[in-house]
Amino acid sequence: MVDLVSHALWAYALFHHQPDAYWYAAFTLLPDLLWAIPALVGFFASGMSIGQLRRMRWKLPHESTSRMPYFSFVRTAYHASHSWLLMAVASLVVAIAVPGLAVPFAAGVFLHLAMDLFVHKDSFAGQVPLYPLSNWKVKGFVHWSNRKFIAANYALLIIVYALMVLGRL
Ligand SMILES: [Zn+2]
Repeated sequence: MVDLVSHALWAYALFHHQPDAYWYAAFTLLPDLLWAIPALVGFFASGMSIGQLRRMRWKLPHESTSRMPYFSFVRTAYHASHSWLLMAVASLVVAIAVPGLAVPFAAGVFLHLAMDLFVHKDSFAGQVPLYPLSNWKVKGFVHWSNRKFIAANYALLIIVYALMVLGRL
């Protein structure tokens, strides 16, 4: 997970010339929604408060992460929703079932997965692109919650959107 807002903003920026650019931005959120929604249900079903949720850190080693309710389920859901293999299968299913959404789905989802590969250093689950066939992990370069990374990311987004508004992109 990079923050969801960044995922959507980058997808829209990259595909803003497409008439259905909003679909690209919507589908790029999918890998995180697929694990975060069940995780949130688990948090609240187990009596956790919003304050506890806020204090949770998504980086290892951090004891709050391993005390997360349904930790192994959340981690498995995360690996499945961030698996390049499983998402390739999902893209194929969408291409057959709803051909008009095939490109926005695949482009949005794989943009998300590609971004996540680089920005999950020491993440609680790690990036396992070949899950479930292999547990090989990609280490990444930085964690998305790093303040300098967040600042650089949003500075770059501001520049890109300013260029878009000015018609230079
Ligand atoms: Zn993600």
